[in-house]
Amino acid sequence: MTVVGVLALQGDFEAHACVLERLGAQARVVRERADLAGIDALVIPGGESTTMTLGIKREGLAEPLRDLVGAGTPVLGTCAGLIMLDRDHLDVLDVRARRNAFGRQVASFEEELDLPLGEASAGAEPVRAVFIRAPWVEEHGEGIDVLASVDGHPVAVRQGDILAVAFHPEITGEDRLHRWLIDRANARRPEGETGFAREAA
Ligand code: GLN
Repeated sequence: MTVVGVLALQGDFEAHACVLERLGAQARVVRERADLAGIDALVIPGGESTTMTLGIKREGLAEPLRDLVGAGTPVLGTCAGLIMLDRDHLDVLDVRARRNAFGRQVASFEEELDLPLGEASAGAEPVRAVFIRAPWVEEHGEGIDVLASVDGHPVAVRQGDILAVAFHPEITGEDRLHRWLIDRANARRPEGETGFAREAA
């Protein structure tokens, strides 16, 4: 079974765990270093990036998380998770995020976004994206694929097997991003081993 770690220091990790379990993966709550052992993919959820940064520091998780991503483990970061991956935080994604970028007056909004994620993970339907005090990508390097933007600001980016979005896919019944993550994890596993529920069905 595909084991997906969900960083659970703070934020809406439970909603991510539900989506992953529904897709037939095993969601592993990650609160300390030992929880990272043997995971096939990782989700960094939304929440509050300052609190999350403190938690990562307290638990000594920055280095093991960097090592994990450096080793090619697929990662999905959403909202504060995007911030945690950026140059100023874990520094594994070549972007600089701008916190609360859409301003207080538009703290929360919804958009329909086309998200090109490849055959298995994306459909023709746009993604219903809910933004909650969301960041945007202020600057990015050349290795970054911008998958979607709002008002000209990137809100979904990909760098290899790192997917980072400024919105919350986990609260709208959207599961294509988590599917993409599980697909990427399965693509790295030895042949014959798969944790994807639809294989068993
Ligand atoms: N505004 C939050 C932060 O900067 C992120 C919001 C979210 O994750 N929904 O940390």
